[in-house]
Amino acid sequence: MDFHQFKEEVIAYSKEIGIDKIGFASADVFGELKARLKRQQELGYQSGFEKGSVQERTDPGRLLPGAQSIISIALAYPSKMHDAPKSKKGDRRGIFCRASWGQDYHDVVRDRLNRLGAFLQEKFPDVELKSMVDTGELSDRAVAERAGIGFSGKNCAVITPEFGSYVYLGELVTNIPFAPDEPVDDSCGDCNICVDACPTDALVQGGQLNANRCIAFLTQTKDFLPDEFRTKIGNRLYGCDTCQTVCPKNRKKDFHNHEEFKPDPEIVKPKLTPLLSISNRQFKEKFGFISGSWRGKKPIQRNAILALAHYRDETAIDELIRLMKEDPRPVIRGTAAWGLGKIGKTECFAAIEEAMAKEEDEQVLFEMEKGAQFKKL
Ligand code: SF4
Ligand code: SF4
Repeated sequence: MDFHQFKEEVIAYSKEIGIDKIGFASADVFGELKARLKRQQELGYQSGFEKGSVQERTDPGRLLPGAQSIISIALAYPSKMHDAPKSKKGDRRGIFCRASWGQDYHDVVRDRLNRLGAFLQEKFPDVELKSMVDTGELSDRAVAERAGIGFSGKNCAVITPEFGSYVYLGELVTNIPFAPDEPVDDSCGDCNICVDACPTDALVQGGQLNANRCIAFLTQTKDFLPDEFRTKIGNRLYGCDTCQTVCPKNRKKDFHNHEEFKPDPEIVKPKLTPLLSISNRQFKEKFGFISGSWRGKKPIQRNAILALAHYRDETAIDELIRLMKEDPRPVIRGTAAWGLGKIGKTECFAAIEEAMAKEEDEQVLFEMEKGAQFKKL
């Protein structure tokens, strides 16, 4: 078989099915990544969402015996929302990060990989494949970098010359000996804007991310948010875009190539107060198809409370009091108590005191005490 010709056919087909960029990489061990992951483990910088051992995450041959190449694909997503509703006093809104706009990208990228896989199979029946999007063992970013999709920025994103870092990535490990592409010849140089702009100092020099400090990960946790970050998440309900929006390489990059990623402003920038009383069924119906809902409604509601506290939204006081007194989930009761303290009106402190008399959960009581402390500040 003429693999050079085959590669050209694969590239042409990828364009037909709406893949914005495609690159080819060798399936060699990712040596540098291996060292970085080990360092990350030692430093305790991991998010806990990682899949597989360091060995599996860096050796494609362990995932697909006989692996010879990896095809990396990128789909561009929008950075701007047309007709975004304003978040105004008494009607405050939260925000889902751009990577959560539109239909869950895992499904969309997986669909393109499946179609690409079917094409390979048709032309090369002996093909062996393993596809991955985000939650697979391999690092989508390390693969994309090696395959010439983009370079790795200090914000830990892959930055493509065409679409900036607003791209979803996925890959296919194959046993086909495609010739590898050259990595992109670009870098951050002396720029340090994202490292300086990160609200929680989560970006460590040298392109490392301390996931335990990164708002993108923290918004997905289900427990109480550590105090230090409560005032820093602002109105973010899911994810954080700051280190991407400040990047000069992303200037004027806004691509609406895929209908699937078109954001519905009422979903990705929803009103905060109605989120506090949304039922499981309503949540699923409204938010179930976006990637930002994958951890369920509890983290979103906890973050909505913190966003209302951030705005000191007095119109939410009644609803927060109801949650503090009646919600069965300690995280929600406690966060509501802390939020009420932050809003700081007399009725907030009166309600906290009243609720404290009946509360039995130690952690919630601790949060109520913290909420009550705001009175003295
Ligand atoms: S996503 Fe936000 S918190 Fe995380 S590194 Fe970027 S700017 Fe910092
Ligand atoms: S903001 Fe500057 S340092 Fe950060 S990723 Fe963009 S170019 Fe690199």
